[in-house]
Amino acid sequence: MTQIDKTKPVLVTGATGYVASWLVKRLLEEGLTVHAAVRNPQKDKVAHLDELAQKSPGIIRYFKSDLLEEGSYAEAMKGCELVFHTASPFITVVADPQRDLIEPAVKGTGNVLLTAKKTPSVKRVVVTSSCAAIYTDAIECHEAPKGMLTEDIWNTTASIDYQPYSHSKTLAEMKAWEIAGSQSQWDLVTINPALVMGPPLNPQATTSESFRILKQMGDGTFKRGAPKLGIGLVDVRDVADAHFEAGFKPDANGRYITVAQSTNFYDMAQVLIPKFGDKYPIPKSAVPKWLILIIGPLLNKTLTRKFIRNNVNIEWKADNSKIKRELGITFRSMKETMEDSFQAMIESNIFKESK
Ligand code: NAP
Repeated sequence: MTQIDKTKPVLVTGATGYVASWLVKRLLEEGLTVHAAVRNPQKDKVAHLDELAQKSPGIIRYFKSDLLEEGSYAEAMKGCELVFHTASPFITVVADPQRDLIEPAVKGTGNVLLTAKKTPSVKRVVVTSSCAAIYTDAIECHEAPKGMLTEDIWNTTASIDYQPYSHSKTLAEMKAWEIAGSQSQWDLVTINPALVMGPPLNPQATTSESFRILKQMGDGTFKRGAPKLGIGLVDVRDVADAHFEAGFKPDANGRYITVAQSTNFYDMAQVLIPKFGDKYPIPKSAVPKWLILIIGPLLNKTLTRKFIRNNVNIEWKADNSKIKRELGITFRSMKETMEDSFQAMIESNIFKESK
């Protein structure tokens, strides 16, 4: 049982990120002091967080930190009982997977958690892991012991050559549990979200892969059809709440699969059609698997035949009962998530009307 004193500051690494910004919002609304560790604390990068702080009872302070610089989170962590480690690159197309994904994810986790070991005030660390640390391909859901993914499962199929982002998240979470097990000062809780969608708080500065997918829903990329690529979906606002509860619920423990529903890219697009389909090139049909097998690898080097075979037209399944039962999380519907995301992209002029 870990009691966190809400009068003490709370550290959020990668605070300017898509997921982290919603967590910072929640913390500020609850009146907490947030130590925001960011790579670049320049005004334009943090303006949306400053705006949130002005409207909330909480306080925000910025610290310049980099995952690859040893000790660079020490100052930000001073006096914190609770650390949220969210910073990690979420991109799938990279030039060098070792340099661009694995090093920042794994070294960064080591850096932050080893600093927590040296910081006497820390009582709990919440790491943003991913369902990617549990599985690589949707087909694995059906091969799982209960016919679906659970917190007991670890990803054993990703590698530096196949889905390196999933590999980076698996190695990073393993590192986190290894460091947690080497000490008894603080406990570790991981949030393992599926694909996160939902309105961004800062739509102009978006690095997350979530935006690339969201953008493709309305920019015409899929206008001839979207793949029925099996995935899990969760709203960014619910992911932020999950982090909050994982941080402050005294008996939160272990890993938490954080997903609202099982879906695929085609079904995600269909919920947008009634509201937006007459103005934007939202996909109205599903691309047949045989066609994706031919054109996919030509369009995107991550769309290998193996990936297509193991994910397209394959239902994704995971058990989200632990987070609902232990952290009391309820999830928004896919319609609400997708409509709110799309509306936010329109308001930020990301999409151009097509008709
Ligand atoms: P994001 O907006 O790109 O956030 C990633 C954050 O990591 C950014 O704040 C980025 O800082 C920071 N970062 C990257 N490299 C860094 C480095 N070398 N040093 C310091 N900071 C660095 O993506 P996101 O979707 O919010 O992802 C946040 C976390 O959620 C990640 O751990 C990701 O794996 C996890 N996750 C995301 C999803 C999803 O669907 N979005 C699903 C499951 C798990 P800058 O702002 O300076 O670039």
